[in-house]
Amino acid sequence: MSSLLILGAGTAGTMAANMLRDKLDPSWSITVVDRDDDHVYQPGLLFVPFWMKPDRVVKDRRSFLKEGVTYLRREIAKVDPAAHRVDLVGGDHLGYDWLIIASGSRARTDLVPGMADGALFRTKVHDFYTLEGAVALHEALDNFTEGRILVHLAELPIKCPVAPLEFTFLVEDYFRKKGIRHKVDITYVTPLDGAFTKPVSSKAFGSLLTDRSVRLAADFTVERIDNEKQQLIGYDGRALPFDLLVTIPPHTGAQFVIDSGLGDEGGFIPVDKHTLRADVSGRIFVLGDASNIPASKAGSVAHFATEVFIDNFLAAIEGKPLPNAFDGHANCFIESGRGQAMLIDFNYDTEPLPGMYPAPLVGPMTLLKPSRINHVGKLAFEQMYWRILLPGHKMPVPALMSMAGKKAVNGSTPAAASAPAAR
Ligand SMILES: Cc1cc2nc3c(=O)[nH]c(=O)nc-3n(C[C@H](O)[C@H](O)[C@H](O)COP(=O)(O)OP(=O)(O)OC[C@H]3O[C@@H](n4cnc5c(N)ncnc54)[C@H](O)[C@@H]3O)c2cc1C
Repeated sequence: MSSLLILGAGTAGTMAANMLRDKLDPSWSITVVDRDDDHVYQPGLLFVPFWMKPDRVVKDRRSFLKEGVTYLRREIAKVDPAAHRVDLVGGDHLGYDWLIIASGSRARTDLVPGMADGALFRTKVHDFYTLEGAVALHEALDNFTEGRILVHLAELPIKCPVAPLEFTFLVEDYFRKKGIRHKVDITYVTPLDGAFTKPVSSKAFGSLLTDRSVRLAADFTVERIDNEKQQLIGYDGRALPFDLLVTIPPHTGAQFVIDSGLGDEGGFIPVDKHTLRADVSGRIFVLGDASNIPASKAGSVAHFATEVFIDNFLAAIEGKPLPNAFDGHANCFIESGRGQAMLIDFNYDTEPLPGMYPAPLVGPMTLLKPSRINHVGKLAFEQMYWRILLPGHKMPVPALMSMAGKKAVNGSTPAAASAPAAR
């Protein structure tokens, strides 16, 4: 009998456990460890400040694990790869033959001086990356009648790097619908030199910010939040005043990853970006946000990568070469307000490009262009997440990125010439 231990029962850990339960011999034990029973549908946190009821985004994670998967509700303390051992808080430990680390990433409100430790936290200084934060922000928006709002991205990487932009477009629309948009001044504050990381999409998002009369404060590296003066202070001396600050703090990997010495400076685990096998041990794979792959920290990446990983894992346990190579595929809807959304589809080598998705000409989704159908797609994804993705069923979209329907733009990064070789 062989044992597979999975650390984290979020998006990637749940999918991997369910997919592998179907593929592995019943003599294999599969154990998943998580610290609590609440599976949060994190893309829903974007809507909680506006209209989504908080209880809609949380479900009992145990109900999404297949029969034959053992669930253990414990806090993980440390991993010792050499001893094939995982220590749990409280003193027990678990052994394993194979280990999947799927412990995600965390928004660290403690890493911006004046945020979590400031007098204005959760009254005038907010985040929406946790359920408590999103709920508090809902109340703050409800009570906001006029003044300056800053939507601030502290640094990358963060989960869903487009979510701060989505929030900006939604909050603009929220006050427009309330009839007080003219009394609300909105600025998007970012450490990047434009609205987003990649040139083509940065231009598209930047134009939309301009269309919606949202100011852009670029190249802003935050030093601290001055709670007394209600100002966001940058290292370059800029002091941006606010009446409401919505900030997405820096992210790190899980504490046990850091404590085990398994992470890079951000606490993300170095892996081969195509196979997701940990550099530290051939018996460890890392799925989802927990690894250091140069892709978005997104549920779509966790999903596509896990699909690609399954056959690699089955080969690895037989000592065979790994047949598949993940290409960094990400696919994200971006709420743009007015009942519309944009869509981006990209990978390690190809930046988000305009066009149609998934089929050329007919789409029906539009890439990098707001459309109603994209918005409907974003909302429909919630049910797909719970019913198709988490249970480990196949989604009707390819795991690897396709150029079908995409239009190259002058100066855009080229498509990968070919899939990377298997290893
Ligand atoms: C506001 C917001 C909007 C988003 N929108 C989108 C979107 O539109 N599209 C998209 O693709 N992605 C989106 N995402 C990102 C997406 O939710 C994450 O990238 C995805 O859930 C990552 O999956 P994961 O399995 O790596 O981590 P998670 O799903 O976060 O799971 C990690 C698990 O590890 C557990 N864990 C960690 N440490 C320990 C420990 N010490 N002991 C025990 N258990 C532990 C945690 O409890 C957790 O259950 C969004 C995220 C946020 C916050």
